[in-house]
Amino acid sequence: MLRCPKCGSTDLYQVLGGYAGMRYRCKQCGYTGSFVVESEEELPSPEKGEHRTEKSVSVYRWIRIAALLLLVFLALNYLVGVLRRMLAPM
Ligand SMILES: [Zn+2]
Repeated sequence: MLRCPKCGSTDLYQVLGGYAGMRYRCKQCGYTGSFVVESEEELPSPEKGEHRTEKSVSVYRWIRIAALLLLVFLALNYLVGVLRRMLAPM
């Protein structure tokens, strides 16, 4: 399978290149030249469903941070109460 070296499209057609020999023209980007990429594989599809999981993970992280902050706040409150009791004159 022939590919355009500029945009990777397989929509190529041959044109007469005069003394230079065979040339190819790309329908997608207009590239013209004798150099084309030859490959057997199809281009990998750019679609990947990874954004959803990433978003839910970030939400989960924020919930954890909020819970951690709440715990720290409660612990500080407790410590301040203990310290006040310790520092209070008998
Ligand atoms: Zn092209």
